[in-house]
Amino acid sequence: MAKVKPVVVVIEDDVKLRRLLRNSLQDAGCDVREADTGASGLLVAASGKPDLIILDLGLPDIDGSEVIKKIREWWSARPLIILSGRDSEVAKVAALELGADDYVTKPFGLSELLARVRAALRRASRHTHADPDVPFCSHGVCVDTLRRVVTRDGVALNLTPNEFRVLATLVKNAGLLVTTKKLLDELWGPDCPPHNRSYLRAYIASLRRKLEQNPARPVLLLTEAGVGYRIAVDTKDSGDSQDASGAQDDQNLDLDRHSA
Ligand code: CA
Repeated sequence: MAKVKPVVVVIEDDVKLRRLLRNSLQDAGCDVREADTGASGLLVAASGKPDLIILDLGLPDIDGSEVIKKIREWWSARPLIILSGRDSEVAKVAALELGADDYVTKPFGLSELLARVRAALRRASRHTHADPDVPFCSHGVCVDTLRRVVTRDGVALNLTPNEFRVLATLVKNAGLLVTTKKLLDELWGPDCPPHNRSYLRAYIASLRRKLEQNPARPVLLLTEAGVGYRIAVDTKDSGDSQDASGAQDDQNLDLDRHSA
């Protein structure tokens, strides 16, 4: 069966960077469409049925945040990764709250970006047609969100209901950044008081004590300072084997091959 290449739209005005992204993504098996302004990016995105969009926030015509809003009006769940030199927590949070899925700050490693691309495509393929009945496994920890079973090195763990909800939200977005606000909304709804952030930190800390080999140096539950948290995907444990069933095979990327 011929593999269908995921269509990735790259909206970036820096010619060198755009070329580098195009070549890397093509090497990784993507069908790449390019644009150098916000307006042309929206046109390309609208006509190209993209599986994923990579968007530079600093564009010459339209502000990137306007592009995010437009894209989200069209597609609520299409993966959108932000690329930006704006290394401020405020800018990151704003982009994520507008509906971006992840955020990579320039300068970035190509392997890091490709890992994010793969995580975003994997999540999207799960949303659309993957079997939800597949546990997430990474760094010795397995999370079966359907049966609410969590194991570490094969041993079942006792999690409190709130710890489980935090973990399940991160697992649903495996490999991607989840903002603190999204986690707070998930736990207590959108109007929860600000001090609930400290409760969330406490849940993360207790999850680390249960899940991490060394809670002081977490490898699974990662903090993105000032922005949120990310659960790390360990390709050794999970990765492709989770995606190896059925139609979503067509969307699998062998990105590691080229992540130099
Ligand atoms: Ca730019």
